[in-house]
Amino acid sequence: MTTMQIFIYIEPTEEKIDPMVRQIAVKARNMGFSTIRGIAVGNHLKGKEEQLSGFLDELLVVDAPSGSEYSTEIIGNVLTDLLGSAGPSLLFLSFTHQGMELGPVVAYRLAVPLMTACSDFKFSDVKGEVVRLIHAAKVEVTLEVNSERGAVLSVQKGALRDIETEGFGALSNAPPVRSVPWKETYGTAKSQVVGIIGENLGEGEDIGKARILVSVGRGLGDPDNLPVAQELAAQLGGMLSCSRPVVDMGWLPARHQVGLSGKSVSPTVYLALAISGQANHLAGMETSKIIIAVNKDPQAPIFQLAHYGVIDDIHQFMPQMIEALKLSKE
Ligand SMILES: Cc1cc2nc3c(=O)[nH]c(=O)nc-3n(C[C@H](O)[C@H](O)[C@H](O)COP(=O)(O)OP(=O)(O)OC[C@H]3O[C@@H](n4cnc5c(N)ncnc54)[C@H](O)[C@@H]3O)c2cc1C
Repeated sequence: MTTMQIFIYIEPTEEKIDPMVRQIAVKARNMGFSTIRGIAVGNHLKGKEEQLSGFLDELLVVDAPSGSEYSTEIIGNVLTDLLGSAGPSLLFLSFTHQGMELGPVVAYRLAVPLMTACSDFKFSDVKGEVVRLIHAAKVEVTLEVNSERGAVLSVQKGALRDIETEGFGALSNAPPVRSVPWKETYGTAKSQVVGIIGENLGEGEDIGKARILVSVGRGLGDPDNLPVAQELAAQLGGMLSCSRPVVDMGWLPARHQVGLSGKSVSPTVYLALAISGQANHLAGMETSKIIIAVNKDPQAPIFQLAHYGVIDDIHQFMPQMIEALKLSKE
C-alpha cells in the first residue's frame, strides 16, 4: 500500500461529473493508493456527490465566491495551498482548457514534475511511468518520473475509457464532504466572469458523447455533399463531426469540430473521411479506439495513425457504404 496522497481536481460541468474522475480514482486504487481525494472549488458539485460514491475517500469543497470556479488564478492558489500542506501528493487534472492552464501553475509553485496530455500512467511512492503520444501521435513515449516530492499530471480526455468503473460505488454512500474555508490569500480574480454561455446542445448533438463519429474534412469539397455524410453517420448510428476547415468555411457549426481548437473526442470508432491528418486535428481524436481513414492520397498522414485505411474517393466510398449498410439491415 502506498502512502502518497492522490488528489483529483474536479472541473465544473453542467450536468454529469466527467467520467474520467472515476476512472482516475479506480486506476489509482488499483495501483495501491489508499487515500484518494477530490477537490472542487465552489459549490458546483452540490447534488452530484452521489456520482462519486465508492470512488473517493473524501471530497474537499472549497467555499469560494461565485465565479472562482473559472478563475485559473484562484484555483491555482487553492490547489497550491492544499497540496503544499498535504505533503507529497499526485495531482490529476484533465487535459482540458482549464487543466492545460492549471498544470504548469501548480507544478511550478510546488516545484514538482509536470506531465501533460498523458494517455496512461503508473505510479509508486517514489517514481512513476507516464505514457504520452508525441509528434502528431506517431510516437509513443514512456517517461520515467521521480515523484518522491509529488507530481502534477493532466490526462487526455477518453484515454482511460477502458477502465471499468461499473459497480464500484454500488454499496457505498457519497464520499464525505469536507468544507474548506475560504482564505484571503486565495486572492481576488483579476478577471471576472460576467456570464456563462452554455453550449445548449440538444439530444444527439454533443460529439464528445458519441460512440461512433463520421468526420468529414476539406476533401468533402462542397457543403452539398454533407447530406450523404450525414446519412452514413445515421446508418452507422453515429454522429457527424469535422475538421477545422469545414467549420471555417461555414459548412458545419463549431460544435462539430474535432481538434486542438475544437473538441477532444475518444469514440469507439472514428471514421475520418477526406481528412489529411494534421497534428492539430489528431490532437483531438488520437485516443479514439478504432480509427478508420478514407483518403484518395495514399501519402496522407492520417494513414500513419489509422488502424484501418481505405485509399478511395469518398464520393465513391460514402454511397457504397450506405448501400452496403442498408442491405445488411434487410
Ligand atoms: C492554432 C491552430 C489550431 C488548429 N486547430 C484545429 C482543430 O481543432 N481541428 C482541425 O481539424 N484543424 C485545426 N487546425 C488546422 C489544421 O492544421 C489543418 O489545416 C486541418 O486539420 C486540415 O483539415 P483537413 O484535413 O480537412 O484539410 P486538408 O489538410 O486540406 O486535407 C484534405 C484531405 O482530403 C483528401 N481528399 C480531397 N478530396 C478527396 C476525396 N474526394 N476523397 C478522399 N480524399 C480526398 C486530400 O487528399 C487531403 O488529404 C488548426 C490550425 C492552427 C494553426
